[in-house]
Amino acid sequence: MIEVNHLTKRYRGGTAVDDLSFRVEPGRVTGFLGPNGAGKSTTIRMILGLDRPTAGSALVGGRRYAELKRPLTVVGALAEASDVHPGRRVRDHLLWLARSNGLGRQRVAAVLDETGLAGAAGKAARTLSLGMRQRLGIAAALLGDPGVLILDEPVNGLDPEGVIWIRNLAKRLAGEGRTVLVSSHLMSEMALTASHLVVIGRGRLLADLPTDEFVSAH
Ligand code: ADP
Ligand code: ADP
Repeated sequence: MIEVNHLTKRYRGGTAVDDLSFRVEPGRVTGFLGPNGAGKSTTIRMILGLDRPTAGSALVGGRRYAELKRPLTVVGALAEASDVHPGRRVRDHLLWLARSNGLGRQRVAAVLDETGLAGAAGKAARTLSLGMRQRLGIAAALLGDPGVLILDEPVNGLDPEGVIWIRNLAKRLAGEGRTVLVSSHLMSEMALTASHLVVIGRGRLLADLPTDEFVSAH
């Protein structure tokens, strides 16, 4: 579970996240919906400890991200995992990540299978299509078999097949009891992916409700 409590981020130029509070429950896909500039990425960066809140807190399983003993086995995040050296081969990147996190080679084989990347394991990252790079980011996020998965705008720029693949993956991972947060600026996409929505605008909470209630009210 993710708990965001009165989370606030101010920059000199303004406020990106403004007293935001919500929970992300396990066992369902929660959509984090808002237009570009609403504060989604800033919120996710604070959940991941990549950015310091001006006020408030973001907790995963009751702890700050920095206090998690083995972050990769607790939280898999696309925002963090997508960073790949362009010359690095798919399998080598995952092996390197596994090794630096005390995980075995068998996890690499498992995530290559799970993400349909086994056939591309020997390819250099720079030769991958956007969709395949997205899968590699997801493979990296899944390495530690995390209980919490955070995907920041995962379908941006993907073709329809890639969009559907991500949608089904998110649902399957939630169905296994994980906590899954997917951000998007597309209502149409979130309506098909998420069973619960946290909607923000200008850094503020606008709605926190089941997707079908939101859809029937708009
Ligand atoms: P979203 O992910 O919903 O598109 P962001 O979290 O990226 O929104 O941005 C929210 C607001 O914060 C935007 O107005 C953006 O310009 C501003 N912002 C984000 N990062 C910074 C930064 N490092 N310095 C100043 N303003 C920032
Ligand atoms: P090698 O393949 O022998 O590990 P590299 O030149 O590829 O050598 O990597 C050098 C160092 O760069 C690594 O020891 C590691 O600290 C860092 N590194 C390698 N791959 C990545 C990656 N995907 N993301 C971030 N850092 C990396």
